[in-house]
Amino acid sequence: MTDTTTTTAQTDAGVAPLEFAVTKNLAAKSSAQREEILKDPGFGTHFTDHMVDICWSAKGGWHRPRVQPYGPISLDPAAAVLHYGQEIFEGIKAYRHADGAVYTFRPDQNALRLQRSARRLALPELPVEHFLQSLRELIAVDGAWVPSGEDQSLYLRPFMFAKEAFLGVRPAHKVAYYVIASPAGSYFPGGVKPVKIWLSEKYQRAAKGGTGAAKTGGNYAASLLPQAEAYGQGCDQVVFLDSDGNIEELGGMNILFVKKDGTLVTPASDSILDGITRNSILELARDRGLTVEQRPVSLAEWRDGVASGDITEVFACGTAAVITPIGLLKGEGFEDEQPVGELALSLRQELTDIQYGRREDTKGWLYRLDA
Ligand SMILES: *Cc1c(COP(=O)(O)O)cnc(C)c1O
Repeated sequence: MTDTTTTTAQTDAGVAPLEFAVTKNLAAKSSAQREEILKDPGFGTHFTDHMVDICWSAKGGWHRPRVQPYGPISLDPAAAVLHYGQEIFEGIKAYRHADGAVYTFRPDQNALRLQRSARRLALPELPVEHFLQSLRELIAVDGAWVPSGEDQSLYLRPFMFAKEAFLGVRPAHKVAYYVIASPAGSYFPGGVKPVKIWLSEKYQRAAKGGTGAAKTGGNYAASLLPQAEAYGQGCDQVVFLDSDGNIEELGGMNILFVKKDGTLVTPASDSILDGITRNSILELARDRGLTVEQRPVSLAEWRDGVASGDITEVFACGTAAVITPIGLLKGEGFEDEQPVGELALSLRQELTDIQYGRREDTKGWLYRLDA
């Protein structure tokens, strides 16, 4: 059910482009089926017709780049990832602009972060150019899957894992890199709604010297039990403390505090995932003349600041939901209503206007994927 051709994509600089073998999915969804899905794609349940796959071996480096039909991966039961969790990933969106062109946002930052995650997990570093090319190759075949509805996007999920069949404990000599894509609807269909968060004091997602700053599945595995606890408490999300007892992050989103004097404060700790949304928001805030502080934030500073009125807004951010206001902090024996302000939503508007091409990209943050 396949026909195979080879294409060479253009890359701008540095590393020589890979030669992808493209195998078209002859059982691809029809355009009618695709349009039906894109009307209400939800999040993470539908996938496009193709995926990218690049192999790596200690001997041969990166090789056998392919675009192939989306489908199950065959793995040896002894594949190291299934036993020791040697895995990393990224999350990035493709946006359709009004003129039909497809862009993504600061993909060089995702590429560099994937390299940092790779170093921590003893995985090979994928060159930035190969990362960018892998996204373009997928859009070249699945570009029609980038929706054009308001707040819709195509969520791209690059990931890398140890596939060597070996039960000894050491970095794997065989690794796979994939990119899959999933159309995403508006995260808040009825408008942005503040979330309730549960303070997990019993569990941590990451430790000092651990893997908190790497985008790796293990951090998420550690967050599932506290997340279930949060649901049990009537909350939507968890906020974690770092090993010094300071505020860390939500486990999938970074957290920011707005002070009465306009200062924007976000926790600093070596176990926090360095969010691209957060960094972009801090930059937009600086451009507005706001003071930005990245430093430890204690639970007392948060709770006292809300009680005294010194903190005027608290919000979380990440690629999937962009910016989410926090409406309630609940912990063992307390419940603090959070003040709601204007800054989070105004920054959200500015950022999404840039991403969707409704506002000029003065920073060179956009990267075209379909040309
Ligand atoms: C991906 C992620 C974030 C958000 O990062 P963005 O680059 O803004 O999407 C925050 N925390 C964790 C643990 C993450 O994995």
